[in-house]
Amino acid sequence: ERKKSGEKRQTRVKVVIRVRPPLTQDNSKICVGTAGNKVEIFNHRNIKENLQYEFSSVFDKSSSQREIFEVCVKPLLGHAIKGENVSIFAYGPTGAGKTYTMLGTEEDPGMIPRVMHTLFQSLPAHCGTAAGPALNAASDHKVSFSFLEIYNEKVQDLLNPSETDLPIREDGNHNIFVAGLTEKVIRSFDDFKHLFGPASKNRTMAATKLNDRSSRSHCIVQLKVDSRRGNQVYHGKIYLIDLAGSEDNRRTGNIGIRLKESGAINKSLFVLGEVVDAINNNLPRIPYRNSKLTRLLQDSIGGSCHAVMITNVSPEESFYYDTYCTLNFATKSR
Ligand code: ADP
Ligand code: MG
Repeated sequence: ERKKSGEKRQTRVKVVIRVRPPLTQDNSKICVGTAGNKVEIFNHRNIKENLQYEFSSVFDKSSSQREIFEVCVKPLLGHAIKGENVSIFAYGPTGAGKTYTMLGTEEDPGMIPRVMHTLFQSLPAHCGTAAGPALNAASDHKVSFSFLEIYNEKVQDLLNPSETDLPIREDGNHNIFVAGLTEKVIRSFDDFKHLFGPASKNRTMAATKLNDRSSRSHCIVQLKVDSRRGNQVYHGKIYLIDLAGSEDNRRTGNIGIRLKESGAINKSLFVLGEVVDAINNNLPRIPYRNSKLTRLLQDSIGGSCHAVMITNVSPEESFYYDTYCTLNFATKSR
């Protein structure tokens, strides 16, 4: 591997695969198999050979939310408490299980509620007890919650729906922030639920009015975690992201032209792929500034940040082409 001495290596973005269970109402044949850390796709009328892909982790249909949380997400939370930035993405075509993975259900919560639970469980254990003026009066940690969406390259504040095109800025310390974004200090899981529930409903209502908005927008939870140890305060940030559906991005061959002519392709999602590739191949230039999403994530992916992309695929043959494209994308950036 080429590496100049003194050159800082980027922390790789971990890419894992999750294959959701077949949906009972879908009678189509299954075309995805897993074995250990390998995924295979087969049974397609036009493609005779089976295609095999290897990843660092593959979660099959029987894997639980808890397992994915324990393996992919929980280890990153300690970094945020130490003042580092963390990003957790769900990538994949519509219907493959991104929202299930990030949000989950009441009975089987996804990564977002699990992160909240664990943060409020483990924060007191990680921090001392002395109160500090910059932090909560009763403790020495502070969690601030924001909820936003990037749709059509516009940043919308989901805690303040009248803000539909907020600018992304950089401060003197290279911290990236959304100017004017609502930040609410939360002290418990209940605080989180009371903010998140209504804001999620806002979004669902907008989605039914505006056709397929939810599959074309990036839905982002931002948590700022301030922790005090001794007289040092650490500022960590966690992004939890339910990405736009990747199905629009499959014609990557002529993407440059298509981007310009129709806007049919989700620019932020395409650029995210380029950014992850650049980080994982340790390229000298990472095109963060080419989209809103990657610009926002500039201080939270690459460098010394910790990121995982949970790549969701559907097992049914009716999703063959989406699955094929998604596995190729994930392999390229793995
Ligand atoms: P996406 O957000 O990628 O469009 P969803 O999360 O909405 O996909 O999932 C599509 C459907 O599959 C939903 O009905 C969801 O409940 C179901 N589903 C997805 N993943 C799982 C899973 N791991 N276990 C059970 N059902 C799942
Ligand atoms: Mg979804």
